[in-house]
Amino acid sequence: MKNKRVLYHLLIPGLLVLPAAVALRLWQPLPVPVQDLLPYFPAFAFALGLFLGWRFHRSRLVMTLLVLFLAERALVFFPSGEYGRLVFAAVALLLPLNLAWISLVRERELVSPAGFVRLGLILLQPVAVDLAFRYRYIEVLSWLNHEFIPLPLFQGGALPQPALVAFVLGLVVLLIRFQRHPTVLAGAQPWVLGSAAIALWAGPGELSSYYLATGALVLDIAMIESSHFMAFRDELTGLAGRRALDDYLARAGSRVTVGMVDVDFFKKVNDTHGHDVGDQVLKMVASRLASVGGGGRAFRYGGEEFSVVFTGRGAEECLEELERLRESVAQASFVLRGPDRPRKKPKGAAKKPAAPKALSVTVSIGVAERSGKKQPADQVIKAADQALYRAKRGGRNQVCC
Ligand code: GH3
Ligand code: MG
Ligand code: MG
Repeated sequence: MKNKRVLYHLLIPGLLVLPAAVALRLWQPLPVPVQDLLPYFPAFAFALGLFLGWRFHRSRLVMTLLVLFLAERALVFFPSGEYGRLVFAAVALLLPLNLAWISLVRERELVSPAGFVRLGLILLQPVAVDLAFRYRYIEVLSWLNHEFIPLPLFQGGALPQPALVAFVLGLVVLLIRFQRHPTVLAGAQPWVLGSAAIALWAGPGELSSYYLATGALVLDIAMIESSHFMAFRDELTGLAGRRALDDYLARAGSRVTVGMVDVDFFKKVNDTHGHDVGDQVLKMVASRLASVGGGGRAFRYGGEEFSVVFTGRGAEECLEELERLRESVAQASFVLRGPDRPRKKPKGAAKKPAAPKALSVTVSIGVAERSGKKQPADQVIKAADQALYRAKRGGRNQVCC
């Protein structure tokens, strides 16, 4: 389940936006309404991103957009001439480095000392380029266009070699960062870098503006996707959350069965082993419930309670599957790492480590089906809760109808 989600985060929204943007440019001639709207696209993409970054307090999103915006403006204002040559080479080098740097800093309020320092570092860069033009034009330009490898393959390309190195480095940083924190926004970053690479490859002009705005749009969609995720997914377990359950039940037909799942003696797990172990137990239970078959779907209802919903099936038909889930949790070996046990095996240690303690976790499940077309969803849940109560009273670790 987790791998699927990680892949999804890496592919959405970049894979939706970037190929679509490329395809749109290859579509010749463009339909007139699209042609008319195209000049407004960069302003729209950047403004939407700023709005989302502000509403969701994402300073890194705002910083990334600012960097893309400055690059876009610089290439539009200085498309050619001596100044333009320096600006292009500087943007090509600095853009990937900035994207990598921003991905590595911690999320902080922009209106704070740390936020001002970061903004200052970004805004200093155009000033530095301007100073370089005034006082060190030849040296800086030749340095920015330096050829590390004088091979024909690398000559005459649109991107200077230092910029190529910066792009490769940026890509490595962004992919490592995504591997460590596989969020939607982190998954969007390599695509932003890709958009920036295409923009620079296209050279200064309307096309570079278009592809830098495409990078901004990738971020916008990632932010919308991430907010959807926040609203409908449970952060700890990765399961769909309560809001998603309400939605799902509201859309379900008349034949619905709900299984309410509650971890047995969970308070004791927290009290004895601590909240972190409690969280690990919840993740384990969630991963078992996520493997539900028979068209069922698992949700985190709240706390240590979960719901498994089957549509188009009556309670009797779901009992076998719910029994399998109960057993799967009970049989999971949840190994506790003792507080005195080192994380790494000490070198040359002859002493045999103490056997890890296993924690036994069980769940009780109450099942109810919708009785009658008009029965509201909360009443089905209530009925399943009553069955759950009976399962608890009956000794726990069982499924009750
Ligand atoms: P029973 O077998 O009757 O269900 O007993 P119980 O101890 O599981 O029941 P109870 O509802 O009293 O305990 C639920 C506990 O779950 C209380 C709360 O501290 C804990 N809890 C709720 N949400 C979380 C969470 O996200 N993480 C952790 N670690 N604990 C949580
Ligand atoms: Mg409970
Ligand atoms: Mg419980």
